[in-house]
Amino acid sequence: MNKCELCELRDYTQRYCQFVYPFKFTILDCDSCDTPMAVLGEHRATATEAEKRLMVEVLAALARDKWGPEGFFIDDVMRQIPDHCHVHARRRWRRS
Ligand SMILES: [Zn+2]
Ligand SMILES: [Zn+2]
Repeated sequence: MNKCELCELRDYTQRYCQFVYPFKFTILDCDSCDTPMAVLGEHRATATEAEKRLMVEVLAALARDKWGPEGFFIDDVMRQIPDHCHVHARRRWRRS
C-alpha cells in the first residue's frame, strides 16, 4: 500500500469539512501553499468525473465565501504529489 502525506492529513492546518458520503474527501488548508484544497480520501491519482465535480463544487463554495466569486480559481494541477488526487483553490489577484 502506498502512503503519502495526503493520506495522513496532519492536523495543524485549518480544516473546513470532511465528507464521508457519497465518498470520502476532506477540505483543508494546504500545508505548503497555505490555501484551501480538497483531498480525496483514497490514495489514487484520479477521481471519477462525479467525484471531481463534487470536490470542486464544495471547494469553490468555500473559496467564494472567502474571496468572492471572482477572487479565486480552481487549480487541479498536482505538482508535488502527482499520485494522490487533490485540487487547490487559489487566490486570484486582480490588477486594478
Ligand atoms: Zn496518498
Ligand atoms: Zn498546496
